[in-house]
Parts: sequence; structure tokens; C-alpha cells
Amino acid sequence: TTMTYKTPARTAKSAQYFTNARKIIPSGVNSTARAVWSGWDPYPLFVDHGTGSRLTDVDGNEYIDYLLGLGPMILGHRPPKVTKAVVDFIEKRGTVFALPVADELTLSNKIINAIPAVEQVRLCNTGTEAVLYAVRLARAYTGRKKLVRFEGMYHGFSDGVYWSKHPGLNVAGPDKAPMPIPQGPGMPAHLADSLIILPWNDVDALREAFAREGQDIAAVITEAVMCNTGCILPEPGYLEAVREITAKNGALLICDEVITGFRLSLAGAQGYYGLEPDLSTYAKGLGGGFPVAALGGRKDVMALVADGTVSMAGTYSANGIAVSAANAALDELAAPGLYDGLYERCQQLYDGLEKIIADNKVDAYVTGLGPVLQVWFADQPIRNYRDAARYARHDLFRIWWEEMLERGVLFHPGAFENLFVSFAHSKDDIAQTLSVAAEAMRAVK
Ligand code: PLP
Repeated sequence: TTMTYKTPARTAKSAQYFTNARKIIPSGVNSTARAVWSGWDPYPLFVDHGTGSRLTDVDGNEYIDYLLGLGPMILGHRPPKVTKAVVDFIEKRGTVFALPVADELTLSNKIINAIPAVEQVRLCNTGTEAVLYAVRLARAYTGRKKLVRFEGMYHGFSDGVYWSKHPGLNVAGPDKAPMPIPQGPGMPAHLADSLIILPWNDVDALREAFAREGQDIAAVITEAVMCNTGCILPEPGYLEAVREITAKNGALLICDEVITGFRLSLAGAQGYYGLEPDLSTYAKGLGGGFPVAALGGRKDVMALVADGTVSMAGTYSANGIAVSAANAALDELAAPGLYDGLYERCQQLYDGLEKIIADNKVDAYVTGLGPVLQVWFADQPIRNYRDAARYARHDLFRIWWEEMLERGVLFHPGAFENLFVSFAHSKDDIAQTLSVAAEAMRAVK
């Protein structure tokens, strides 16, 4: 570790746990997003519990939580109806049967009814799995090899897609023709041949890739809002162009809704933008905090799964915990007007943050869409990964983050992560956040 906290005594118990954890857990944590090199330097907070919009660490500090488990806690922590549904299922019925339960039908119907482009759906456990299945299916359906993925996005940690998330610009090739860079050693180098890495928000780059090797492209995978390099919105017309170019060339469009699904609207980012992808992947928002994911899409593509041509296995797929949690979560999310209220509260947050930035004359701006957002400390507009890598001020972000943390507002310390807002965040939570932000921003100036 290279950093220190301003007030280490505030989180002394977390420090002690971390010291012990590193002896027996490599890096001291169980996901790279919690590691010191992801921003949690010198140590991550250890959590005691969460309730609604609040989280309490082991030292007894309470935070308004905008980390939200990196997305799943869209209903806040311990959402009572979801918890009850899961406990009931476990106590009265079980967890894993290696046979279907009727509740899977109920859940699948809810998903299909919520999302126009999803005609059929298969359940699994994590976003990584859903993407892996989607890409396999797209290759099988088209008989083609290559996957277009965009630099700066993240589609899970499987070998086939864990490339070019945040590559060093010294190794990543020219802006218009990025090289595939594996996340690290151990990933087979030959998988580079099955990938085309492109800059996002760049229609010309996509057209050129299809002009060059369209016959080999099975699919384009993208988030409709880029949520893994801070938060970057699609430029007007971009998503429509991606849809048109893929369709014209016989390639599938996979919309990765792992973050945006059930968050930007009940129909996800595609609902918000009116996009109709061929396949879509869901996870985080679907299960109210429990591990459940889904691959949905066109019936004629899913036909390859239906007849066994493409295999999708999984001991834990559609287990009782996953299915009961998602059924309860989707009932909550289907309440009329729910998302409108959320967007209103988020607007209060955006407006307040913009005003604080302007008052302090800081080179920063807020980007996002409703309940997913980030503050960029940058004096240039950021429309793709290369801009972010060049212009984002990680040093200023760190100051801002720690000033917020010490005053009781929690989010991920990485400038390339996001703030998440849940349905449990009240107007008062937002108001309190803004009064903290006004103080914190003075330290950045
Ligand atoms: N796709 C996107 C867009 C994600 O943001 C993530 C996780 O952050 C994944 C896929 C992988 O999901 P999981 O962590 O559930 O495997």
C-alpha cells in the first residue's frame, strides 16, 4: 500500500482485520474490486451491516451508501420482502434440487413481460456466466468467430472477454485501432484472435471493422450506458447505429445490462433508449442482493439452447434462493411510478452536485443517468475510455472520496467506478449527501 487515511483511528478495526486477512486471503479480499490497487488503499472498510440506504462498518461508522454492493442493492440493504421470500423458501422448500420449480416460470414470465426484446430467458448465477453464455450462443448461431467489445467496458472475468478493460495507453495501440490486452497473465494469448477491440461512441470505427471483417463477426457486446469507466452516456444516434450496423451485417447485438438492467428502468437501459438487442444479460439489479442472473433474447436464437445444440449447465442455476429473491425483487420493482420517484431524487443529487462544483470553480462535472452516476474531475469532455485514461484526475478524485467518506458518505474509491442510488435513498439522504459534498468539495479546490 502507498496511501494512508487522514484519520486512521476512525477505522482501526478495519485495519486490523485487513492485516489478518492478508495472511490467509490473497490480497485480503475476495474480489479485485475490493483490492488496494482498485482504490481501497491502504485497506478496505470491513462491514458490520447495512439497513436500507445505510451501511455501518466494524468501527461503528455509519454511511449513506452509494456503493450498494456495486449495484445489486437496488432496493437498499435487507429489503424486507426479498429477505422474507428467501427465508420462507429456504425454510419451507429447500435450496437446490437439480430439478425445476414452478417459481422459475413465474420469474421468467415477469422478466419477459418487463422487457420487449426478451422473448425467452435462461437463468444463471452471475453476470460473468450470463455473458459467457451469450457469447457462446452468438458464435454458435452465426457460425462466426469474432466478438467486438469496447475498450473500457467490463463483461465479467471469463477468459474470452476479460480483455482491454483499462489497459495502459503505452501498450494499448492507436486510439482508432486498440490492441486486445488481456487482464493479466494466465489468459490464453490466442483468444486475442477472437476479439476485436474498438473505441466506444465511435460509429466510424465500428463501420470500418465491419467493412474489414464483417464476415467473421458473430456479435457486438456493449453496455448501453458505459458504466465501467465511470459513467459515460451514448452520444445521440450511437446505439441506433450499432443496432443498424449489426443487423445489416448478420451479427448479433448483445446488450450487457448487468449494471443497467432493472436499474435505469424496469426494462433496463434498452427500455430507456428504445433499443432492441438480440441478446441481453442481467444480474445485479435482478435479485435484490442475491446471486441470480439471466440471459434473455430472441426465440429463434434461443432455439439452439432449446434443442440442446448449445449447452448451458449450472448446478446452482435457478436455485431456490435466486428464484425466490428475484421473484420478490421484481414484484417490488413493478410498482407503478417507482422509477419516476427515483429519477426525481437522483435529479436533486445531480443538480446539487453541479451547483457545488460551480460554486467551487472546480474542473469537474457529473455524468450519469438516474441511479448510476459519477463525478469526473477533468477539464476535457470524456466520451470513451481513452479520454478517461488521459483526462481523469485520480488524485483529485481520491481527495474528494476521502473527504466524503470521513463525513459519512460511502462510494467506491475508484474514479472509474460509479455511485449507485437505491430506492431506499430518501430526499433527506440526498440533502444530507449534498451538505457533506459542499464541505468536501472545498478540500478539492
Ligand atoms: N457485465 C457488466 C457490465 C458488469 O458491470 C459486471 C460486473 O460488474 C459483469 C458483467 C460481471 O458480473 P458478475 O460480477 O455478477 O459476474
